[in-house]
Amino acid sequence: MVRRVAVVGAGVSGLAATKCCLDEGLEPTCFEQSEDIGGLWHYTDQAEEGRASIYRTVFTNSCKEMMCYSDFPFPDDHPNYMHNARLQHYICKYAEHFDLLRHIRFKTMVTKVKKRPDFSVTGQWEVVTQQDGKEETAVFDAVMVCSGHHVYPNLPLADFPGIEKFKGCYFHSREYKEPEKFRGKKVLVIGLGNSGSDIAVELSALASQVYLSSRSGSWVMSRVWDNGYPWDMLVITRFRTWLGNILPRALSDWLYVRGMNRSFKHENFGLMPLNRTSRKEPVFNDDLPSRIACGVVVIKPNVKEFRETSVLFQDGTVQDDVDAVVFATGYSYAYPFMEDDSIIKSRDNQVTLYKGILPPQLEKPTLAVIGLVQSLGPIIPTADLQCRWAVKVFQGRWMGLCWAKVYFLYGNSSTLQTDYITYMDELASAIGVKPSMLKLLLTDPRLALEVFFGPCSPYQFRLMGPGKWSGARTAILTQWDRTLR
Ligand code: FAD
Repeated sequence: MVRRVAVVGAGVSGLAATKCCLDEGLEPTCFEQSEDIGGLWHYTDQAEEGRASIYRTVFTNSCKEMMCYSDFPFPDDHPNYMHNARLQHYICKYAEHFDLLRHIRFKTMVTKVKKRPDFSVTGQWEVVTQQDGKEETAVFDAVMVCSGHHVYPNLPLADFPGIEKFKGCYFHSREYKEPEKFRGKKVLVIGLGNSGSDIAVELSALASQVYLSSRSGSWVMSRVWDNGYPWDMLVITRFRTWLGNILPRALSDWLYVRGMNRSFKHENFGLMPLNRTSRKEPVFNDDLPSRIACGVVVIKPNVKEFRETSVLFQDGTVQDDVDAVVFATGYSYAYPFMEDDSIIKSRDNQVTLYKGILPPQLEKPTLAVIGLVQSLGPIIPTADLQCRWAVKVFQGRWMGLCWAKVYFLYGNSSTLQTDYITYMDELASAIGVKPSMLKLLLTDPRLALEVFFGPCSPYQFRLMGPGKWSGARTAILTQWDRTLR
C-alpha cells in the first residue's frame, strides 16, 4: 500500500502533487531546495544553482481562467495575463488555502533517489536529502518528480564555429535579468522561442540594434485575440478540438496556417516556420511584429560563423561590431538526484514516459514525473490532473491500467508533445473526472454549451467524479465575467 510520498520540488507542480496526496489520504513530504515555494515564478535577481531563473519582466502567456488550479480560481481583480510577481502571489495563496506549507521542508535538497533492494516487490524508494550540510535518508512508497524542466541550459556552442574567437560577451538566456547594461549596444539573440523573442523585444528599447536569429522560424501569436479576448479562451475549446479531429488533415492544416497568419503574414516578416503544419508550441509575443516593422529587431537566419567582432549568417550576410550574444537555446532535461537517471532519460537523451508521466521500464509504477509534457495548454491544470492520475495509479485504484502489460509491451515512443484537450481528457477519463457531454446536455444544457463551445477551463475537470468541486459549475458560468473585470 502506498502511504508515504516524496515530492521533489515546491513549484506549481510540487504544490499540486502535495495537495493531491493529501486529498487521497496519503502522507506527502515535499522537499524544496530553496527557501520559498513557486519554483520558476519565485523571481530572484541572481540565478540560483539547480533552480529555474526568469527575467524581471516575464508575464504569463496563458490567461488567468485557463492557467489556474482547477479548484482555485484567480481573484476577479487580477488581470488576464500576469506579471510573475502576481502569479507568485496567487501560488502562495493556493498553498495557504490548502494548508500545504506544513508539508514542505525548505532548504532541503534531494540528492539521491534510488530503488530499494526489494523494489520489484515493494516499489519503495530510498530518498537522500541534505539540509545545512546534514544528510538524511528516508524510505518512501512513491516519488513525484516535480523538479522543473527549465533549469539546465542547453548551450550548443559546438554548433557555432568561431565562438571561441568572438571578443564580445555571450551567455545563456537563463542569465538574462534586465536590459539596462545593453544600452547603446548591438546584440544578437539566438533562438526564436518565448524567451528569445521576449528578450529581443525588451532589448530593442535600449540597444542600438537587435538581431534575432532563427534556424526554423515559428508561429508568433498575440495574447490578445479576436475582439480583444484572451487567445487561449477562444482557441482551446472542445469544439475546435472536435473539428480538428473530424476534418480531413489537409483542410485542418489549411485552417491552422490561415489562423496563424490572421494578423500578419509570417513569410513577409521572415518568421515562417519550416514545418508550417506542425502544432509545435507557438511563440507568444504581442510586440515582436511591430518591433520588426520598426526595424529595431532584425530577423536573421542561422549563424554560420562567429568572427572576432562580427557574425556571418547562413544567407551570406555579415553583421559587424556585435557586442553581445544571448543564447536563448532552451534547456536540457536533467535529474541529477536520480541514482539511475536512465529511468527517466532513455539512451539517446530522450524522455520516454507512459502518459507523459510514468517511466515504463519500472517494475512498479511508483515514480511519476510531473509537468514535462508540452502542449498548447497551461502547465498548472496539466500538472494538477497528472498528479490526480498518478496518485490513483500509486494506489492501484485505476482499474484500466495493467502495469505488467505496460512494463513488458510499452515501446519507446510516447511523445511529450501532445494536444492539450485530448491529453487532459485521456487522463480525466481514466480516473472518472472527464465531463460527460451527454449527461450535461440532458441535465444542465446551459452548462453543456459552455463546456463544449466555451474555453476548456480547468474547472471542467472538477464537475463530476472523484475530487468534484462544488464551485466548478459557477466558476465555468462566470469565467467571462472575471475575464472582463
Ligand atoms: P519549477 O517551477 O521549475 O519548480 C521546480 C522546483 O523544484 C523549484 O522550486 C526547485 O528549487 C525545486 N527543486 C529542483 N530540484 C530539487 C532537488 N533536487 N531537491 C529539492 N528541490 C528541488 N507555463 C505556463 O503554463 N504558462 C506560462 O505563461 C509560462 N510562462 C513561462 C515563461 C518562461 C520564461 C518559462 C521559462 C517557462 C514558462 N512556463 C509557462 C512553463 C513553466 O515551466 C511552468 O509554468 C512552471 O513554472 C513549471 O513548474 P514546475 O513546478 O514543474 O517547475
